[in-house]
Formats: sequence, structure tokens, C-alpha cells
Amino acid sequence: MTQRQPGFRCRRCGHCCLALRAHDTECEPEDFARWQAQGRHDILARIETVAPGGAEPVRRMWYTVEGERRVVDACPWLEIRDGAYSCAIESTKAAICRDFPLDAHHARSCGCPGYDDLPDSDR
Ligand code: SF4
Ligand code: SF4
Repeated sequence: MTQRQPGFRCRRCGHCCLALRAHDTECEPEDFARWQAQGRHDILARIETVAPGGAEPVRRMWYTVEGERRVVDACPWLEIRDGAYSCAIESTKAAICRDFPLDAHHARSCGCPGYDDLPDSDR
């Protein structure tokens, strides 16, 4: 959930945070270091280092903290505030979240309505 691009308005629909299994949710080293420095063990507990197919290890978000360790469907930091979806870790959320969507084309391809106010010629 972001508002950084001209013409973009986040609808707080939650679409980008509700189906995480469909996305590559890699944790950037800067995010990991920031959460370590902030002592955010609640966040760090939901990150796993994986190396699919013997590839270079990467840190991936977000995992269950109870029972079988697996990627969650909906983001655990998604909450309802004032009747709309909101991010509970807004001030320190991951780069991949801050930067979403990258542009109007990316938004449209992901089903994000954030650029729907723009005329068709601009998206
Ligand atoms: S899908 Fe787009 S409009 Fe909806 S919450 Fe995410 S960034 Fe905001
Ligand atoms: S951390 Fe916040 S912005 Fe990122 S997927 Fe979760 S609820 Fe959405």
C-alpha cells in the first residue's frame, strides 16, 4: 500500500496483501538489517531463508509461526482500520511493499486499482 507515484491513489482494497502465495516476496538485505536494528523479532520470526533447487539462498516472507512452517496466504500484518485494509507495519514495511505498484502497467497487471483515476491513454 503506497501513494508515491503521480496519479496513484491507494484504495486500501488489500488486494496486494491478500494473496501473497502468488508473488515472490523476497526480503531485501536492507529490510532484514533494519528489522534487526529495530529489534522487530515479531517480523524476523516470519522470515525463512530458502534455496530452491540449490539456488543462491534468499530470505522469503511471510511464514507461519505456529505449526508447520509454510508461506501464509494473506499477509499477517494486514489489518482493518477505519473500515478499510491497512498495514500494521506501515512505518517499517519491506521495500517490495513500499514500491508496489512499480507503475501503472504493473498495477494493471496485478489487479491493483490504484491508477484507475487516470485516463486510459495514461495507463
Ligand atoms: S492493490 Fe493497490 S489500491 Fe489495493 S491496497 Fe494494494 S496498492 Fe492499494
Ligand atoms: S507488510 Fe503491509 S504492505 Fe506489505 S503485504 Fe503486508 S500488509 Fe501489505
